[in-house]
Amino acid sequence: VRYLTQYDPEVGALASAEAKRQQRTLSLIPSENYTSKAVQLALATAYANKYAEGYPYVWSDGSREDRRNGRYYRGQEYTNELERLAIRRALQLFTPDPGEYHANVQPLSGAPANLAVLSAFLKPGDTFLGLALDYGGHLTHGHGVNITGQYYNAVQYRLNDSYELDYDEIRRLAKQHAPKIIFCGATAYPLRISFRQLGAIARETGALLVADIAHICGLCVTGCHEHPFPHADIVTTTTHKLLRGPRAGLIVCKKPYGAAIDRALFPGLQGGPHMNAVAAMAVALKEAMSPDYQRYAGQVVRNAKRLSKLLQEEGFKLMGGRTDNHLLLLDVVGSAGGLGAKDGSWLAKQWETAGIVANKNTIPGDTRPWYPSGVRLGTPAITTIGMIDQDMVHVAEWIIRATRHAENETELRRIRDEIGQFMEQFAFESFYV
Ligand code: PLP
Repeated sequence: VRYLTQYDPEVGALASAEAKRQQRTLSLIPSENYTSKAVQLALATAYANKYAEGYPYVWSDGSREDRRNGRYYRGQEYTNELERLAIRRALQLFTPDPGEYHANVQPLSGAPANLAVLSAFLKPGDTFLGLALDYGGHLTHGHGVNITGQYYNAVQYRLNDSYELDYDEIRRLAKQHAPKIIFCGATAYPLRISFRQLGAIARETGALLVADIAHICGLCVTGCHEHPFPHADIVTTTTHKLLRGPRAGLIVCKKPYGAAIDRALFPGLQGGPHMNAVAAMAVALKEAMSPDYQRYAGQVVRNAKRLSKLLQEEGFKLMGGRTDNHLLLLDVVGSAGGLGAKDGSWLAKQWETAGIVANKNTIPGDTRPWYPSGVRLGTPAITTIGMIDQDMVHVAEWIIRATRHAENETELRRIRDEIGQFMEQFAFESFYV
């Protein structure tokens, strides 16, 4: 760190400022987390220098030949070993029976992982089903501004009036449109997902079930949420959210789909994998198999439930009426008790002045995506640094005060100072602070 700061003071100072910002503010964006020093160090290894296009194995007539080297460039002794290790750990963590599944650790992130799966099984114009963005789905589940909504015939399902997945409606749409793929998973859904019911719908209608568990992956692998396997055929995830790894993506699938997915990702969509991210992913997967991580995942949910209750008691309106996972979606326009705000974008900006970092989010009925009515909160990051149930009392109090006094700059700055001081007691792992 000292070397970087001396060699390039501009970048060094910025890195240090960002680390301090993360340390002194409440990080409540549900898709963010704090990585361990081990993950950070893995990202900074010499693997960052290496091109490793291809795979450490070869597909031949649909079966994987692990003894043959499928890379395009030489010098792959240690990239091959590393990628095999990451794959083994992914299978061990994600699947009930590693021998029956295949993992691809090369997606550069969640979006390319999803596109690779679609392009592996669909031709342009083919139909798939996905959850609409304004009901909590992700852009890559078929939204019109995303390539997945432009190249394919994306039929979008919605939630019911209680903000719950409507399995009868999904079945009806699947029967009507005969999609090749049903995508499930979400980016702003606080309730449980029944992979069992979705798997039954997929089998009834001849579709593949793809579960994008980017948000809840850490809960699925620790038993805090139903596991998508064996109901789903393919699972995609990011590794930087609850899983607490590097910014990257991961695909795990039943073995027969492995060859098509590998081919779709490379050479279909990407070039060389980021082998330093693969190294960091391997570290995060090891961490996720530990008893510490098991305890962490349980605490993430307990913190989210406690925070939900506290906010609800004061008048905040929660979409879905509760949280079952790590995430809360507040309708800040529809909240009561003096908590109603102009819109989620404005409120998130005011909160930032108070040191509360969250993100605006659309909720059903929003017509102006840039000024939506919702704000999304999550507990993965604050739980990583050691916050437990009773800390949620302070977190809730700051959120409530910063909302009631959202136009009072002095009060917002006072909250910011209180949060900054409070944060000093927690363990934040960064080389830059
Ligand atoms: N899938 C879901 C459910 C997500 O929430 C996200 C990101 O927020 C993605 C995919 C895309 O991941 P990335 O931003 O890494 O491309």
